[in-house]
Amino acid sequence: MSTDVTTPGELTSFGVATLFIDGKWEAADTGATFDVTDPATGTIIGQASDAGGAETDRAIAAASDAWPAWARETAYRRAEVLRAAHDLMVERAEDLAHLMTSEQGKPLRAARNEVRYAADFLAWFAEEAKRVYGQTIPSNRSSHRFTVLKQPVGVVAGITPWNYPMSMITRKVAPAVAAGCTIVLKPAEQTPLCAAAVFKVFEDAGFPPGVANLVTTQRPEQVGDRLLDDARVRKLTFTGSTEVGTVLAGRAAATMKRVSLELGGHAPMIVFDDADPEHAAKGVSLVKFLNAGQACISPNRIYVQRGIVERFLEVLTDRTAALEAGPGHQANVGIGPLIDQASLEKVQRQIDDAVGRGARLLVGGRRLTDNGLDRGYFFAPTVLADVDESMVIYREETFGPLAAVIAFDTEDEVIAKANDTQYGLASYVYTRDLGRAVRVSEALRFGIVGVNDINPTGAQAPFGGRGSSGLGREGGAEGIDEYLDVKLVGLAL
Ligand code: NAD
Repeated sequence: MSTDVTTPGELTSFGVATLFIDGKWEAADTGATFDVTDPATGTIIGQASDAGGAETDRAIAAASDAWPAWARETAYRRAEVLRAAHDLMVERAEDLAHLMTSEQGKPLRAARNEVRYAADFLAWFAEEAKRVYGQTIPSNRSSHRFTVLKQPVGVVAGITPWNYPMSMITRKVAPAVAAGCTIVLKPAEQTPLCAAAVFKVFEDAGFPPGVANLVTTQRPEQVGDRLLDDARVRKLTFTGSTEVGTVLAGRAAATMKRVSLELGGHAPMIVFDDADPEHAAKGVSLVKFLNAGQACISPNRIYVQRGIVERFLEVLTDRTAALEAGPGHQANVGIGPLIDQASLEKVQRQIDDAVGRGARLLVGGRRLTDNGLDRGYFFAPTVLADVDESMVIYREETFGPLAAVIAFDTEDEVIAKANDTQYGLASYVYTRDLGRAVRVSEALRFGIVGVNDINPTGAQAPFGGRGSSGLGREGGAEGIDEYLDVKLVGLAL
């Protein structure tokens, strides 16, 4: 880490008190902590408080007590604290980005982009707070009126993953707080310091006590059990794997909580032969290796029309080979480490399976261990050609730097193949034919379609999936609706 930035410890300055409950920083009741490790070097960069059920109960109680007053505040007041949080986050962006690189591994430039993205949700929902419009509906009776109100659902439980350790938090906390809800958030055990630094921003921005509470733990089931079983919690918002999300949604049904789920994906990328293969290959290399492939919208199946597939592979292979892997604080690093050993093994297993079934390995294909990289979880960015339906990678989310390319012949064929998945989050199309762009984007059964666009996301746009990729939307005008109940008021005159 360079010497002119604040270290994670200084930035968070919590010691081991990383629980933020009712406006106060606390250690776990038992004093228990867990280590936080830099995935690039294996170095322990700090400790976080290891909360259990009792601390979670207190956080729920704080959120529940704070809720009525927060719900009564004007939208303008709620907007004020969110705007202040946005401004503080932008002010601290450099320190936050360095912390993120140390804790999660992404290159500094990508970490800076994520901090900006995280702050965008605070600004966007500060404005959306003021636009929670109700409705009047003409009644079928002359002496009668209908009015529709939108009211905050109450206490929210938020559970977030490690791969986007700041923006996934603001994408939940900002709309919840804007709507007049209060929240208890449990971040991933790999990235509790990023979460604490974001909550420090909330504290300093003037969030009233109890409005946003943070419970760090390395025992997610214990905290999750309390959040899910407590009837005071009226909504679960979860981002993470489909496996865990499915179990939690089932549990939430027992107390009939509202649920939104942002889960895994298996994005198809379709490159038609009317597109420029070089431009498309450049786009694919950018989006595929972003965050070392650890993104839910990462292309997992790259379909390229047969006439341009070899040229496409040539450019993609060259660009992939040129990517420099290393610790994210180093200059020129284009790809950081994976999060852990299990992730390395999963990528290797998918490659071995595919090559064993006839895929061509064009570049990469192995763990990187030279020049000190063996201390971290680095995997060489990889390109596989001739991938087909028989291979594990064709169905299983990779979450690693592995580009799997499949040749196709016709538009109808590729649409059918792209849609042949349980997932439905992101999809991408490269074409210069306008009619085709419209036809294909309408036919793809996914929540998001990028047409000649590798970044179809933004705080102002609704993000979310269908099928096994989840329920509900985050961001956009839709994002705040997830935290609002609809109330019908009938009035007999
Ligand atoms: P994960 O499901 O293992 O963990 C996600 C969160 O759930 C973590 O905070 C974890 O501690 C918590 N958790 C796990 N078991 C729990 C339990 N029993 N009770 C309560 N909480 C529990 O997922 P991950 O490996 O951290 O993240 C990767 C996954 O997230 C990928 O599948 C990826 O596609 C998905 N993801 C989706 C989006 C999206 O917006 N759709 C965004 C980022 C990541």
